[in-house]
Amino acid sequence: MTSTIHLLDPQTIGQIAAGEVIERPLSVVKELVENAVDAGATRVAVALEDGGVSLVEVVDDGIGIAPEELPLAVRRHATSKLSIASDLESIDSLGFRGEGLASIAAVAQLEILSRQPDAQIGARIVAHAERAGEVEPAPSPVGTTVRAHDLFANVPVRREYLRSASAEFNRISGWLSTFALAYPGVTFSLHHDGKETWTMPATADVRARLAMVFGKAAAETLMPLGAQAARGLQGTLSGYISTPGNDRADRRMQLLFVNGRLLRSTLLAGAWTAGYSTFAMIGRQPYGVLFLTLPPEHVDPNVHPTKSDVRLRYGHQVFDAVKRAIATTLRDHATARFRDAVTVSPAPEAMDAALPQLQTLFEHAGEPADAHGNGSSGLRVLAQLDSTFILATDGRALVLVDQHAAHERIAYEKIVATAQQHAPGEALLVPLSFELGPAESAALDRTLDMLREGGLEIENFGERTYRIVATPAGYRSRAFDVAGFLEDLTEDPKQREVRERIWASLACHSVTRAGERLDMTEMATLVERLQLCENPMHCPHGRPTIVRMDSEAIQKLFKRI
Ligand code: ADP
Ligand code: MG
Repeated sequence: MTSTIHLLDPQTIGQIAAGEVIERPLSVVKELVENAVDAGATRVAVALEDGGVSLVEVVDDGIGIAPEELPLAVRRHATSKLSIASDLESIDSLGFRGEGLASIAAVAQLEILSRQPDAQIGARIVAHAERAGEVEPAPSPVGTTVRAHDLFANVPVRREYLRSASAEFNRISGWLSTFALAYPGVTFSLHHDGKETWTMPATADVRARLAMVFGKAAAETLMPLGAQAARGLQGTLSGYISTPGNDRADRRMQLLFVNGRLLRSTLLAGAWTAGYSTFAMIGRQPYGVLFLTLPPEHVDPNVHPTKSDVRLRYGHQVFDAVKRAIATTLRDHATARFRDAVTVSPAPEAMDAALPQLQTLFEHAGEPADAHGNGSSGLRVLAQLDSTFILATDGRALVLVDQHAAHERIAYEKIVATAQQHAPGEALLVPLSFELGPAESAALDRTLDMLREGGLEIENFGERTYRIVATPAGYRSRAFDVAGFLEDLTEDPKQREVRERIWASLACHSVTRAGERLDMTEMATLVERLQLCENPMHCPHGRPTIVRMDSEAIQKLFKRI
């Protein structure tokens, strides 16, 4: 290394700056497609060769670039989208830094062909490594064609980081089809090595594009966010979210557009989790897409070189609105599904009379059984099957309720509510004490705080001896299965959604088990309680709580139809 400080030559400076923006062929596609959308295009055609390394071509039918402006367009910090620094506070275009084209030119042979709608002929310019050629007249369709040839030919190290052509291509195809979700009015197409990969015609309905991004089966599970979604928000919110029971191992398919930009936001990832709180299966992630528009001055996209993260002013308001929109949509959906499964009609008298004696078993659900004025559902409990299932009917269908799954769901929602309201657990008159082995005791120690939040207070009074001093309100009437609970705790300590998992486990071990005999009134109350749940259709582990066999299905069994 030399010890003298000297200024870098412009070519090197250009390459370093480009390095932040252009990382791989996908980055070129992003910059060019965003420019096309900013130019008001209704058709954007992307063509690639060798996964974009030999060629990225983007053709649009937008407003075009005036010939005399072409040399400027390829210069760094030249943009038509921003004129004074204060514009940075209210950006309403996708580009704004004026460095997209210049960065591409620094690491590839850039060629632009453009014609404005009222011009007789188009113009062409080529640029590479800080040098731009002369602007020449050239025939061109209305709009702009940009080609980037031989990416990173002059930066061999960068090429080494690229994956195979098909891997680079897949990234581009994935990004472009996802990006297209936010621009249903624009036709997008993708070609690779001369062959058409796909075309998405312009459509009035985003739904047509969901299958391409989520896959056909998953797209069918998506439901639109309710119309009241944007309440409490200065802006608009729409989107599609997965129905409960449909989920993935990771968050990758929780897509977010803010003012037309496809982004990641840690803040809003949290809003997905909060919105699904009692709906997602423990340890699993819902999926879908949210379209958020906010006043431009509330969004700062200028925090990341590739513009892939935003800073939101009033982020907490946005968080609350998104969380509420998701939760409300899920609740409405669950209510509708429960109504389908269990037709609600006036209660048979015999069951009403039985309700007051139910305080013991189901007390933990909070209020007396008829506190919500629902009376009983139209479900008539007929019998218990195998000490495990509740057999009931609404007169039209046979309804089977898994007694453990149903009770677990009721208890779980109670625990979550206790934690959210910071309600204290209920003190036990005679604390229950127990002693543990070293592994179990270590596992329990790690979770004491979370359990306390959920209402279960356990004290360690030395030498691996513990006592339960308070339980989630109302639990006192049931034995808590400490051994089963601890077995769950030691089983899998590295799960991500630890808190929900522990609560689910707490619920699981403090309720009716399969194989336990219940009398008619206990069963009736269980069904009542289930109906008051936010998400009555699934237990916290995602197993169904209710199965309905309608008369048609039964007729089929008897070969009547
Ligand atoms: P930015 O998008 O941040 O403004 P770019 O370097 O990507 O910076 O583009 C520079 C300018 O070139 C843009 O501001 C725009 O005026 C013009 N331009 C680029 N691409 C297109 C296009 N496809 N259609 C019309 N104008 C374009
Ligand atoms: Mg741009």
